[in-house]
Amino acid sequence: MPDAMPLPGVGEELKQAKEIEDAEKYSFMATVTKAPKKQIQFADDMQEFTKFPTKTGRRSLSRSISQSSTDSYSSAASYTDSSDDEVSPREKQQTNSKGSSNFCVKNIKQAEFGRREIEIAEQDMSALISLRKRAQGEKPLAGAKIVGCTHITAQTAVLIETLCALGAQCRWSACNIYSTQNEVAAALAEAGVAVFAWKGESEDDFWWCIDRCVNMDGWQANMILDDGGDLTHWVYKKYPNVFKKIRGIVEESVTGVHRLYQLSKAGKLCVPAMNVNDSVTKQKFDNLYCCRESILDGLKRTTDVMFGGKQVVVCGYGEVGKGCCAALKALGAIVYITEIDPICALQACMDGFRVVKLNEVIRQVDVVITCTGNKNVVTREHLDRMKNSCIVCNMGHSNTEIDVTSLRTPELTWERVRSQVDHVIWPDGKRVVLLAEGRLLNLSCSTVPTFVLSITATTQALALIELYNAPEGRYKQDVYLLPKKMDEYVASLHLPSFDAHLTELTDDQAKYLGLNKNGPFKPNYYSWTDYC
Ligand code: NAD
Repeated sequence: MPDAMPLPGVGEELKQAKEIEDAEKYSFMATVTKAPKKQIQFADDMQEFTKFPTKTGRRSLSRSISQSSTDSYSSAASYTDSSDDEVSPREKQQTNSKGSSNFCVKNIKQAEFGRREIEIAEQDMSALISLRKRAQGEKPLAGAKIVGCTHITAQTAVLIETLCALGAQCRWSACNIYSTQNEVAAALAEAGVAVFAWKGESEDDFWWCIDRCVNMDGWQANMILDDGGDLTHWVYKKYPNVFKKIRGIVEESVTGVHRLYQLSKAGKLCVPAMNVNDSVTKQKFDNLYCCRESILDGLKRTTDVMFGGKQVVVCGYGEVGKGCCAALKALGAIVYITEIDPICALQACMDGFRVVKLNEVIRQVDVVITCTGNKNVVTREHLDRMKNSCIVCNMGHSNTEIDVTSLRTPELTWERVRSQVDHVIWPDGKRVVLLAEGRLLNLSCSTVPTFVLSITATTQALALIELYNAPEGRYKQDVYLLPKKMDEYVASLHLPSFDAHLTELTDDQAKYLGLNKNGPFKPNYYSWTDYC
């Protein structure tokens, strides 16, 4: 098995100070790169960020917290979820086998089953386990007190336990009211992690859990790991003094990152933040390969559709679109693309797809998939013109891409035919098959591959290590991308799973290319253009 590169920032030979020095030598390598100010329009999210949540029940939750918090996420569904147990976990007195009650989960007795789930996830997260082993002696997170808010699944449990193995103390809540695997939360609580989460939290529970993680006598967080920005928002609103001790925020989601950039722009970001969403190891793998794997799964589970010969239109040929198209093409579907960006449109042409306007094909297609991150891409007019049994779904972050609200009119009948599958019926009998009510298809209706989550989780762990260990002054109160060298390290940790053998630069070759033999191997502007 090839050996992964030494851990940057932890191994002696790759101390970050040296890396910055090296980077300065090679003019095109700025090791610590400020992320480009992306033009992401999330006006609604921003409005919500400044709003304090109200206690108005679950329906309002979908408006008062980030989309990522409320999108249903049945892939992470709890196998042992017992709907017969209606007692709120907040009312229960539970202790783990060591007598600790420093947690709040659905049922601590499910811990053993949850442990098995975590062990299964570990099998496909060998890079994270390898990081755990490599850095265990050095404990790069010794003294770190991490407050986290992410999906609580077997895969994130592997991340949390890795952070603990590297020396951190963790307190954790869920970033989504539906996504917690109860047995996994129980296993974490049994292992001594202060976890406050269960599947089916109310809005009040959601904020209560976050509050229990932050507000603890005798314990103050010095790092934040967030997915969606709700935890960061809570600390800003309720406990701004906590930021005096916080060394940094690591944020995974596009929504949370956007919020951080807004704070930074307004001069209100008071600690450094690491944007994991735009790390190449997140974007090029989570967005592209994860969607390539899960689009078919989501469609098959909900509709049993056969793809061979079917006409499919995919709106948006970015990372997610490219992944979806590659999978559909491989199964023999006839794929059309819509794009607004001539470069992505040209890529689609060169990859063998027809680039069209949605209007040109809307009458004939069997499946419509949106993945633009935009709004109102599929309008009521498009829906009116679709043929009978056309399947409509969304792979983008929020449920704004398909104008689902326009379908809630008296002349149309809605029939729930399966979980996450609605038939919307027109007066003439035409049916449109709407999946997950226009929310993220793969997160709502299928599973996402553990291996891809391992890449993202390893990136998060390294971002925490980097921010926690960075000497004062390396990071200011701004939003940063993970140093490229760390992205390369994340990738190298995953190569042994494929028995991939990296070629090493000779001294002569390194000199010729103007590179350090240990990387980084690409300039910051390199875009890892995909071919699907
Ligand atoms: P991207 O920016 O790479 O791609 C989006 C593409 O849509 C761009 O090429 C853009 O030009 C195009 N576009 C924008 N408006 C359009 C319109 N009206 N018609 C046609 N094309 C249009 O982004 P991405 O990484 O592909 O992500 C797309 C969305 O998917 C985002 O909302 C992202 O958060 C989400 N996402 C989903 C998953 C998942 O698992 N389902 C994973 C990662 C990201």
